[in-house]
Amino acid sequence: MARIAVVGSINMDLVTTVGRRPQPGETVSGEGFALVPGGKGSNQAIAARRAGAEVDFVGAVGDDVFATALRDVLSEAGVGVSRLRVVDGPSGIAAIVVDGGGENTIIVVAGANGRMTELTAAERQTIAAADVLMCQLEIPVETVLAAARHARAQGTVVMLNPSPVRDLPAEVWAEVDVAVVNEGEGERLAESLSAVPHVITTLGAAGAAYRGPDGEQLSHPGVPVTVVDTTGAGDTFTGALAAHWHEGPRTALAWGCTAGALATTKLGASASIPELAEIRRVLAETVGR
Ligand code: ADP
Repeated sequence: MARIAVVGSINMDLVTTVGRRPQPGETVSGEGFALVPGGKGSNQAIAARRAGAEVDFVGAVGDDVFATALRDVLSEAGVGVSRLRVVDGPSGIAAIVVDGGGENTIIVVAGANGRMTELTAAERQTIAAADVLMCQLEIPVETVLAAARHARAQGTVVMLNPSPVRDLPAEVWAEVDVAVVNEGEGERLAESLSAVPHVITTLGAAGAAYRGPDGEQLSHPGVPVTVVDTTGAGDTFTGALAAHWHEGPRTALAWGCTAGALATTKLGASASIPELAEIRRVLAETVGR
């Protein structure tokens, strides 16, 4: 079983549905409201756990009412939370408004995620003890760099999902062993990615492709499913890939594609992450075909 340390974000999505969004100064009645736990770090941690890995989450929540709910989501999934910090101030949130036309407006407040700085000795220990470090870009880049440097020095594989996409200093890319990108991110970061030993590009319904250190190419076709909501498919893919990275890229791609496809068959991000038994069943069917 792989041991994974996720150094990343966790936040609460506050999702309001409304027929028509208000003008400045106007109040309108909304139709629905839901609290949806998320954050790329948290989602990928849960996905890796469900795909069979032992996972520790290194991140931060605030001292507000969301903190307990966010912690519970991780621990109920079996993700280790002994390195989940509690900091003063708000937890990370995303205030999302979905209007009658299906258009989204989103305000992200980094909150506690923005305060994930200066790794502690205990956090560094967790990274050193892991087989794979998984990071995304919803916490300060300096923390990603510090975690990656420490992981590299300790022989832990550094996996980066550079999302939300942005340009990163070359010193960050120099520490990355495995990058997981979607097609848009792959195009935007092509130059930086050329120096990364292992690059996995997700291709939506078409599955995923791999390019190795010697230029070796592999791909896995999309797993045919009835799509309900693609939110969270990328995070699920990345978590499952990390959980099986030690079995080689071909097997890891198969796990990522299967878990990612299953995640599209249900509504939501974290709620749609498939369980181990379901991934295994579909994998067995696909291999048997
Ligand atoms: P992102 O959501 O980050 O843009 P993708 O759309 O590439 O990423 O999806 C991530 C992974 O989820 C894909 O590699 C694939 O395995 C799976 N996936 C996404 N959409 C579908 C789909 N329509 N059918 C089957 N698998 C899908």
